[in-house]
Amino acid sequence: MNDKLNAAHVLIVDDEQDIRDASERIIAKMGCPVTKASRGEEALEIVGGQPVDIVLLDMKMPGMGGMEALGRMREINPAILVIVITGYATVETAIAAMKKGAYDFIPKPFEPDQLRIVVNRALERVRLSREAELLEQKRRRTLLDLDTEKSRVRTILESLPNGVVVTDDKGGVVLTNPAVYHLLGRPVAKASGARIDELLCDAGICNLVLEISRGKHIDYDDIPTCEMAIGDDRFLMVKAQPVLGERGECLGAVINLMDITAMKVLDRLKSEFVAKVSHELRSPLSTIHEQLALVLSDMVGNASDQDQHILSRAKEKTQGLISLIGDLLDLSRIEAGAICTEFKPVRVEDLLKGIVDFLRARTDARQQTLNLNLPDAPLPPVSADPLALESIFGNLISNAIIYTPEGGAITVRADLAGINVRVAVSGTGFGIEAQHLEKIFERFYRVKNDKTRYITGTGLGLPIVKGLVDSLSGRISVESTPGQGSTFTVLLPVQEG
Ligand code: ADP
Repeated sequence: MNDKLNAAHVLIVDDEQDIRDASERIIAKMGCPVTKASRGEEALEIVGGQPVDIVLLDMKMPGMGGMEALGRMREINPAILVIVITGYATVETAIAAMKKGAYDFIPKPFEPDQLRIVVNRALERVRLSREAELLEQKRRRTLLDLDTEKSRVRTILESLPNGVVVTDDKGGVVLTNPAVYHLLGRPVAKASGARIDELLCDAGICNLVLEISRGKHIDYDDIPTCEMAIGDDRFLMVKAQPVLGERGECLGAVINLMDITAMKVLDRLKSEFVAKVSHELRSPLSTIHEQLALVLSDMVGNASDQDQHILSRAKEKTQGLISLIGDLLDLSRIEAGAICTEFKPVRVEDLLKGIVDFLRARTDARQQTLNLNLPDAPLPPVSADPLALESIFGNLISNAIIYTPEGGAITVRADLAGINVRVAVSGTGFGIEAQHLEKIFERFYRVKNDKTRYITGTGLGLPIVKGLVDSLSGRISVESTPGQGSTFTVLLPVQEG
């Protein structure tokens, strides 16, 4: 028996002192604390005033009878185990007592062993009840813990400034936090059960979320970060990722919405500032450049070589600044959406032929070969601004020429890839190391190493190309092996219909 069981408290109620004392001796030896009462009324007082687990109750006592005492005791404590001592009475008395809720009975007179057996049985029952109670308490505590954990997670979710939407594997919305509605600028509606396109009004993003929810994109790094406009003046950044189960199966998606309006406003202000400054600088710089050219031509034969060298350097530098300003103004126009306004069907083959012909003089001068590989069947036209396309491929082919050493080869390939016209510009050049690949599309990013050190540039060519490709709903990617060369690939959607 364990300690808790030993602590089961036994009350002996009998009007015969000998029975009380003898029973007390036996039960005390079993390790249970014992209290005695000689009358029913006294027993009830004890049951009402202190914890009693088992009562040994004589049925026949002066005053309140055992049967009445039994009933009243169980009213006070329904869990109490009462063993009735049936005296000389009949089996019927025992049955009546059991019907009234007695746990067991023992006929009088009884042997010590008989008493031990009956009390042991009751003690076992007390033990089982206590164990059951402990288990129940434990279960309740676990549920409470779970509940607390759940409410903690919910509190965190609800206090997040970012919007969080969780979808199931069919793209149905299963959870949203209040920030979602705040960011979407819509009143709180019951989101659970809604479809993702009822919540987010951007078809492209909804398709991406559906694909992620269905397990099409498992690699977090491959999932693009998207921007979503809310009305005319608010912007959200949307990043979705799959929720994977224990076996790697896709259970749905988590979509994170972040308000980037302030960043966009700052970006616009910065672009406006750059555009304004560039605009103001362009005319005086052009004047200086022209005047330097004039002075230089007048100087021929009249000035020292050193003076001529200094002025030539100044002229080169102003030319560099003029191209930088030109690129900055182009970039500002692309960002303001003021470029790519004249969409018309363009035959990419013809456009590429024109650019390649124009640039051939440069490759010849550098002993480079310039190849244009076109498919046998004509490509479907793309809907684009021809000036934008010229700028894209002009920049990419010029870069391939510049970043390929003399004697190298530049290849321009065009073909059809699904619903896109694909143009790949490759050069057997220096290549770009992996750590620079993502950054070369950022403004002013230039790779500086021993091979590129002497090549001048603004670091704005690729950002302009990327901006133009984006505004034509196209995509650009780059693959490169240092020492072997790079390939820039542009995908442009073919004209519909
Ligand atoms: P710029 O050529 O004026 O420096 P870009 O934005 O066009 O600016 O290019 C950014 C950088 O990317 C370049 O400095 C160069 O290091 C690298 N790069 C661009 N095109 C190529 C290419 N075809 N081959 C190797 N490196 C390239």
